[in-house]
Amino acid sequence: MTYDPNNVFAKILRGEIPCKKVYEDDFALAFHDINPRAPVHVLVIPKGPYVSMADFTLKAPAELVAGFIRAVGTVARQLGVEEQGYRILANSGANAHQEVPHLHIHIFAGRPLGPMLVERK
Ligand code: AMP
Repeated sequence: MTYDPNNVFAKILRGEIPCKKVYEDDFALAFHDINPRAPVHVLVIPKGPYVSMADFTLKAPAELVAGFIRAVGTVARQLGVEEQGYRILANSGANAHQEVPHLHIHIFAGRPLGPMLVERK
């Protein structure tokens, strides 16, 4: 899939639309999800034009891959959810209902999150 530079997260990265920022460094930006599904629902995105984890790990420089993954852990620590527990998740493609075609890791926390998937094979 080719990257659409007009997707909403690209616009957030360019500062064209606002976000409720949680964390930022050279590699990543984290902000609150606009439609939270848990008391804590934060998105972490890499600073670069990547659609999915597969796309990102194929094309991004090693420094960015490491920096982005490190940022996910840093955000989890800063949110203070390590003790109670949290879930990270990345939707990719149609079957996973990916809505925004810019790689993003969801961090969910703040309540018991239930089973990983509703049972249906
Ligand atoms: P996904 O289905 O994994 O692509 O999730 C996309 C997520 O982005 C959803 O949880 C949306 O609520 C969230 N979202 C969409 N637009 C914005 C926005 N402008 N600011 C923050 N979160 C957004």
